[in-house]
Amino acid sequence: MLDDIIYLSKKLIKLPSISPLDLGCQKIISKRLKKIGFSIEKFKINNTNNLWAYKGIGKTLTFLGHTDVVPPGNLNDWKTDPFDPIIKDNFLFGRGSSDMKCALSAMIIAVESFLKKFSFFSGRISFLITSDEESFGYDGTKKIIKILKNRNEKIDYCLVGEPTSNLKVGDVIKNGRRGSISAKIIFYGIQGHIAYPNLAKNPIHSALQAIKNFLNLKLDLGNDFFQPSNLQIFYISSGNENITNMIPGSIKIGLNIRYNTEISQKRIVFKIKKILDQCGLKYHINWIFSGKPFITNSGFLLETVKKSIFQINKFFPKLSTSGGTSDGRFFTCMNSDIIELGLVNKTIHQVNECVKISDLYKLSKIYRNILKNLFI
Ligand SMILES: [Zn+2]
Repeated sequence: MLDDIIYLSKKLIKLPSISPLDLGCQKIISKRLKKIGFSIEKFKINNTNNLWAYKGIGKTLTFLGHTDVVPPGNLNDWKTDPFDPIIKDNFLFGRGSSDMKCALSAMIIAVESFLKKFSFFSGRISFLITSDEESFGYDGTKKIIKILKNRNEKIDYCLVGEPTSNLKVGDVIKNGRRGSISAKIIFYGIQGHIAYPNLAKNPIHSALQAIKNFLNLKLDLGNDFFQPSNLQIFYISSGNENITNMIPGSIKIGLNIRYNTEISQKRIVFKIKKILDQCGLKYHINWIFSGKPFITNSGFLLETVKKSIFQINKFFPKLSTSGGTSDGRFFTCMNSDIIELGLVNKTIHQVNECVKISDLYKLSKIYRNILKNLFI
């Protein structure tokens, strides 16, 4: 089992599939899945490859993952070639090892091993794999879920293979994620000579009050599963860096809000607009809604994942909703239970990304147990 996981992981890491490219990873995966009786559908949208594969009938578990990786960064900082996977001191090194080609391999080998033992099972196992998770996600999971929803596919359980573990594989799982909203705002004043401020209207001075009010905004208090929603400014510019005698005509700011299940998108928009309306400037606002929050705080999938981890580790995982968004967010419209469980995230997106070899085996065993506990 372990040899198979390493073999497949290495094969995938060797392909430098920098997002949104797949470069043949999904071909390798679909070939393997076809061999064990999966039906395969491929969706190529612009530069993005997507794979939907399924076997069985009934309650559906979807393994969700991605074949794309982030760029390697400075090659001189790597001790090994990022796209030539090497095992050293019981770790497998390579870009995408922990995020998340090895987890994909662990899933596939788990399914192969499960089907070898249980040719009859009551349910449907499926894979949804994209190559557009690390970049914008325009042509990936979001679009495929839309297609699946339009043809009335039902997905009961979604297991995301993103690297959620902290120190040991399975010590932390994500049972929810915060939502994300960004706003790009332009405040308009009146441009003028800096020596004649009475003939101009300085948008920076007025916008500062709005920014102060944004930072004082209490969106909610959080709940048992989520920290309070949080607003951060990520950009301020008047575009007037070098002209010292001019009051600029406008100022742009960017803000991002990570929000929880205590507050709705609509309510956030209302609160932001209220502050803007009070600032006495004309403004234009551009919203970017990146994803709604989700929480799976009970149910069969959560209990099954906890039990399956315990069977291997002899301890239960800690539940967490921290971190950025994941493609799990696109499953909220399917009303699926969503749990994320993957490898240790210590080196993700870093140089010298690596995974512990023994973790690959453990993770695959946990995935296999999940299948057994769900479907047998
Ligand atoms: Zn990832």
